[in-house]
Amino acid sequence: MKVTIIGAGFSGLSLAYFLIKKGFQVEVFETKSSPGGLIQTIETDRGLVETAATSVLLTSDLEEIIKDININCFLPKKKSRKKYICVNHSPKRIPLKLIDLLSLFKGIVKLLLNKKKVAPLKNESLSSWSDRVFNSEVTKKLVSPAMTGIYADSANNLSASLVLKKVFTKEKKSRSKGPVNFKGGMGNFIQALEKFLIKNHVQFHYDSQVDDFNTISNPVVIATSYQQARELNIDLPIIPLKDVSSVTLFFDGTPPLEGFGTLFPLEENLSSQGVLFNTSMFEGRTKTGYSETWILSNKTDLSKDKLLELILEDRDKVFKTNESPVDSMIHHWPEAFPLYGKELEALLYKEPNLPKSVFLTGNYLGNLGLSGIIEQNKLLSIKMSQELI
Ligand SMILES: Cc1cc2nc3c(=O)[nH]c(=O)nc-3n(C[C@H](O)[C@H](O)[C@H](O)COP(=O)(O)OP(=O)(O)OC[C@H]3O[C@@H](n4cnc5c(N)ncnc54)[C@H](O)[C@@H]3O)c2cc1C
Repeated sequence: MKVTIIGAGFSGLSLAYFLIKKGFQVEVFETKSSPGGLIQTIETDRGLVETAATSVLLTSDLEEIIKDININCFLPKKKSRKKYICVNHSPKRIPLKLIDLLSLFKGIVKLLLNKKKVAPLKNESLSSWSDRVFNSEVTKKLVSPAMTGIYADSANNLSASLVLKKVFTKEKKSRSKGPVNFKGGMGNFIQALEKFLIKNHVQFHYDSQVDDFNTISNPVVIATSYQQARELNIDLPIIPLKDVSSVTLFFDGTPPLEGFGTLFPLEENLSSQGVLFNTSMFEGRTKTGYSETWILSNKTDLSKDKLLELILEDRDKVFKTNESPVDSMIHHWPEAFPLYGKELEALLYKEPNLPKSVFLTGNYLGNLGLSGIIEQNKLLSIKMSQELI
């Protein structure tokens, strides 16, 4: 049976992989002239720039894909084990006082001994959940910055049940061996996956935007962003969307700090959400000097100069350095994903109303990260083979 996928981003490509394994014939339509969607790697004179994801969690499903598509992955360098959170504009590996560490420990024990009792309530925000299970300092200095770094909003606005889904799910979880990247970056992974799919007779139609999926007679999977699915007249409500910018800076010399990166709690009043230390994270990121990737939300309307000015101010406050970058590259992603808040929680509580033989995948169905999208697509391929074959 033939299936049409709309969108050749990570969601569309990884679903195509699982569908061909189930014996489906697959064709993919993509507006742009190449695959990957948000994920691209740009090779510059100074090193690699990742436009969105800088790593993916290595699960057993990803290991299977990596083996099939014949690409090597890199584990992070040892020095990237150090992760920091800012306290009073100073990066700390342990951002909590002893008394708050004790609350954290007690909360973890409660989690281990009586998961049901501490499970998130319907409509509970992440901050209320964390205050309930740990305390408000743990929320402000650890839980909120950690999740803001991923979901680009404060713990007050995030839904506890959505962002903690993996912790509380009853389904068998695929264990992760930590983040990995690939020689030549995430873009090389996308290219190897596309090559494997073409070899297995998947037909790609680039520069081919689908405006009306009702004209397609096969079963259809819409593998676009939330907003793009709404533009295809899928019955999805208006919910808040996140605009995210990723800014890669290249510097000469040696980095002010080595590790994975630093997260910034909202109370620090910085413009950025956090910074990743690319050069100390994976091999082969920079040819000379070092690079950092800064993540900011709701700043996609700012000019390049203004954005750089804000980042250099943050850099000065946190790393006490006024070094100027020798090169920089900015990627704005307006409406990249929905706010993982109460509106999305309400939407996912019941299955969206879809026309017959139309399916959805994407980063708005409870899985924002790539390893979750892989898991979601494996399950979708099983559901589709049960319903369609
Ligand atoms: C700055 C940033 C950093 C991130 N970092 C990480 C990370 O480190 N690790 C991680 O796991 N995740 C990360 N993520 C999340 C992850 O990158 C995304 O969730 C994922 O790439 C989304 O892929 P997608 O295919 O669902 O959507 P997209 O990448 O948006 O792809 C959708 C595709 O559909 C196409 N399309 C849309 N409408 C149509 C149409 N009508 N017809 C044809 N084609 C259409 C689009 O052109 C696009 O190519 C990050 C996200 C961002 C924004």
